[in-house]
Amino acid sequence: MNNRAKIIDGLKKAMEFYRELGFEYLPAKIEQKRSPLTPDPCPLPLNKDIALQALRDEIGDCTRCKLSRKRTNLVFGEGPHDAGIMFIGEGPGRDEDIQARPFVGEAGKLLTNLIVKLGLTREEVYIANIVKCRPPNNREPDEEEIATCMPFVERQAEIIKPGVIVSLGRISAQSLLGTRISISKIRGRFFDYKGIPLMPTFHPAYLLRNPKDKWLTWDDMKKVLEKLKGN
Ligand code: SF4
Repeated sequence: MNNRAKIIDGLKKAMEFYRELGFEYLPAKIEQKRSPLTPDPCPLPLNKDIALQALRDEIGDCTRCKLSRKRTNLVFGEGPHDAGIMFIGEGPGRDEDIQARPFVGEAGKLLTNLIVKLGLTREEVYIANIVKCRPPNNREPDEEEIATCMPFVERQAEIIKPGVIVSLGRISAQSLLGTRISISKIRGRFFDYKGIPLMPTFHPAYLLRNPKDKWLTWDDMKKVLEKLKGN
């Protein structure tokens, strides 16, 4: 295939990718970035970055639910588009709301320690939440807020397609799996989430209050590592 054919093939794949995501046309920013002069004809990694940015643009300064009223910042999520593990928590807390980054408070430090213990760095995993704005006084997000915001994190997972999703805490596991079963009953085993293995485990904030259960989460994470290694 010559260069021109490769570029046309890459553009066709990009357009199919966006059509599957529900776009009826390519956003202007994509057209600018997808110049035919772009030397790399392989569209996939670029597509993921663009798809995540397009999703962020689509969310914008969101007021789709009442959590928008008291937030300081919307917390989109962060990490590489090709992350092997995607952690999904419940929602931003006070520190996250201020810094516009997920898991940066005390619970975030514990999560970071866990990631390091796995032999990874925070920069190698993707971290997001079920709702992107802080529920006031750190209350749990209600059903309407979850239903309104969840399509965004679902789209993030579809774009990233990680090797494993780790849901952190009851709200995340129950929302993603569509169940009411308690976290202590479903943690520690894999479920299928749209073709991606999903491991529910405890939320780091729970582990701060119940440090004796840290070893259970460590057990869960060892299973995640095994899964990623293909065992
Ligand atoms: S929580 Fe989600 S749906 Fe609600 S305002 Fe924030 S981004 Fe929008």
